[in-house]
Amino acid sequence: MQKSRVVLITGGSKGIGRIIAEKFRDAGYSVAATHRTGSVPEGVLGVVCDVTDQAQVEAAFTTVEAELGPVEVLVANAGVTKDTLIARMSDEDWDAVIDTNLTGTFRAVRRAARPMTRGRFGRIILVSSVVALMGNPGQVNYAASKAALVGMARSLTRELGSRNITCNVVAPGFINTDMTASLPPETIKGYEARIPAARLGESSDVAAAALFLAGEDAGYISGAVLPVDGGLGMGH
Ligand code: NDP
Repeated sequence: MQKSRVVLITGGSKGIGRIIAEKFRDAGYSVAATHRTGSVPEGVLGVVCDVTDQAQVEAAFTTVEAELGPVEVLVANAGVTKDTLIARMSDEDWDAVIDTNLTGTFRAVRRAARPMTRGRFGRIILVSSVVALMGNPGQVNYAASKAALVGMARSLTRELGSRNITCNVVAPGFINTDMTASLPPETIKGYEARIPAARLGESSDVAAAALFLAGEDAGYISGAVLPVDGGLGMGH
């Protein structure tokens, strides 16, 4: 029997990342997930890692390799927001979001790429956002960090495609997690009115898309942006 594939999810302590970890575990993958605070789901290997720290990213991969084997599926999910209008956006607001969402993803992908190349198999899934391509007032830093992941995925596809490595972007719309729980109720109502599905999404909706892209059946899909947004972005 083929050994189950090894998957690493960044930001698996809560929200979308936690549900992705559970979904892959339930599908029979060998699952590791990073956390800074909190814990990861039962049956998942937890590795402490702040993606803004290169040494911690290196240590996390080394631990996963020792415990489970080389990472074959990477889900780069860790992300933060620091929303405010452009005139009030500080350098710190900008840097914190770029360092986590964009550079943090880069650090994890760079560390994952060589063993995937050696193993002639890889599935890289970058968690972006519907606002990457639609834009959103108050999210210049966040939208820029998430839009950059599309260019990253497409460049990785061109670099690594011949090695049986795919790289795709999942672009969630507004999903019920701590990240959206902090929004004022009238903002949520406003979003619901604009979403064709007329509701916020669930983390399981995003997890299903990640599981599909990681699977053997998705081996000829790369450089794609898969929206999971109830139609809000109309395919973008
Ligand atoms: P949550 O705030 O619920 O969870 C964020 C996760 O990222 C946590 O596990 C957190 O870990 C981790 N994280 C944050 N900063 C770092 C860091 N520096 N190093 C390592 N891990 C970190 O957010 P969501 O689950 O809602 O979001 C998950 C992803 O989905 C993000 O990339 C987000 O941008 C994206 N997304 C979310 C949408 C939504 O509506 N919720 C919509 C579109 C995209 P810890 O708790 O341990 O700090």
